[in-house]
Amino acid sequence: NPTILLPADIYPNRRNSAGVDLADPTVRGPLLADLDRLEKREWDENVEAGSAREVRSPQDRRKVLGHVHDATEAEIDDMFARALAAQPAWDAMGGLKRAALLDKAADLFEQHTNEFISLCQREAGKTAIDGILEVREAVDFLRYYACEARMLFGAPQPMPGPTGEENLLRLHGRGVFVTISPWNFPLAIFTGPAAAALAAGNTVIAKPAEQTPLIAALATHLCHEAGIPEDVFHLAPGDGKVGAMLTSDTRLSGVAFTGSSATAHAINRNLAAREGAIATLVAETGGQNAMIVDSSALPEQVTRDVMASAFQSAGQRCSALRVLYLQDDIADSMLEMIRGAFEALVIGDPADLATDVGPVIDDEAKEKLEAHIAEMKAKGNTVWQRELPPYCDHGSFVPPTIIEVDSISELEEEHFGPVLHVARFPAARLAETVDEINAVGFGLTLGLHSRIDAVRRLVESRARVGNLYVNRNQIGAVVGSQPFGGEGLSGTGPKAGGPHYVSRFATERVTTVDT
Ligand code: GLU
Repeated sequence: NPTILLPADIYPNRRNSAGVDLADPTVRGPLLADLDRLEKREWDENVEAGSAREVRSPQDRRKVLGHVHDATEAEIDDMFARALAAQPAWDAMGGLKRAALLDKAADLFEQHTNEFISLCQREAGKTAIDGILEVREAVDFLRYYACEARMLFGAPQPMPGPTGEENLLRLHGRGVFVTISPWNFPLAIFTGPAAAALAAGNTVIAKPAEQTPLIAALATHLCHEAGIPEDVFHLAPGDGKVGAMLTSDTRLSGVAFTGSSATAHAINRNLAAREGAIATLVAETGGQNAMIVDSSALPEQVTRDVMASAFQSAGQRCSALRVLYLQDDIADSMLEMIRGAFEALVIGDPADLATDVGPVIDDEAKEKLEAHIAEMKAKGNTVWQRELPPYCDHGSFVPPTIIEVDSISELEEEHFGPVLHVARFPAARLAETVDEINAVGFGLTLGLHSRIDAVRRLVESRARVGNLYVNRNQIGAVVGSQPFGGEGLSGTGPKAGGPHYVSRFATERVTTVDT
């Protein structure tokens, strides 16, 4: 009989990962030495299976950092067979035991922090600070969902009924979950949805982004080393064709996808077209995120938060700021200050601690962003653009860019990179401005800089977004503090790192006994 654990017994014991303190020279020195050593390491994943594909660095296409074997149709078929067979025993193991394995995986992830940071840099072009934050987030997801597993999948929940009737509600895994994750959080979002599905008693086939299979392979190996059986957690690297094969299979019970809204729609169509269990879809997709700044805002704070929101991670976060709305009477002075900080951004090698903006993920992303910038220039919009230093010649770099626009509706899609758009609004049209942002149909993050309570209340009550950030930047949601995710075109919910996430991966069963 599992012990009943109440939330109060569990949450005080949960701590987010401490991460790595780069400001401490006794920590920074050894980390940098280790990253230097790891820079030379080759990462090969499952190459003995044949047809290995090269993985190259976005910051320097001449550098091969490893090879990967992509999953074939026959291998995927075998994964489904094994995952299906393994699921009942994994489910019957119960939440307490599954949680212990997830906690063990979190410990192993922390022990391998430097390898993960190195892979974040070399495979995804991330800066050291982004790499550190990424490892922390992955660890936090594992531990948070382990807490949820203990809480939700321990003892059954008694439900009331008339005298002589006993009702017990139990949560179980749904079956086999397919998780499909993006390259922009190649570790955290590879790990998070898979950990939630595992916590809930599902077996998992995880497809990492085509661009970042090696970091996902290390994460998978560590989960196996922690004791999560190989038949329970499978890695299926590959491109969109592998994703389509996975999401068309009749043996799955759910899909957790993070990526573009268009791909989420395509997955939904695949799920609808197949026979088998009616599948759950958890989708976290894009955003056309705005920040509203009124004349009561503190200019230095706004400048700092705009820089972080728009240009950290080279703007490649779905939470990132895309359209900055400045109240018209402060717009010119505010823009001058923002441009000062913009001119000071350091662009280049992600391995250099001074770098603010590294590469975008690949040449396809670079070309799309360049085409957008060229189109805006051709239309006559005012555009400020930084020069790229010579270091960038061999990689997929896009110069940080600021473009003036009339409104958010001028943009037809999300532009996933270091490109910030700026619009102006008159104070009297604050409510209409919020409506204009809502009308785009996304609903992920919104930033607000204002020191007027009535403004905050108006925006809070009117904006249809998952995460509203007031007087700070709008990226970097922390597990357990800012449950993250949007609505509308931005996704189905539930919020990652929040109290309602894991239960979406479960099915509910009730036993009623006439006593
Ligand atoms: N959770 C991340 C943040 O708050 C964004 C996740 C994503 O880009 O998919 O910045």
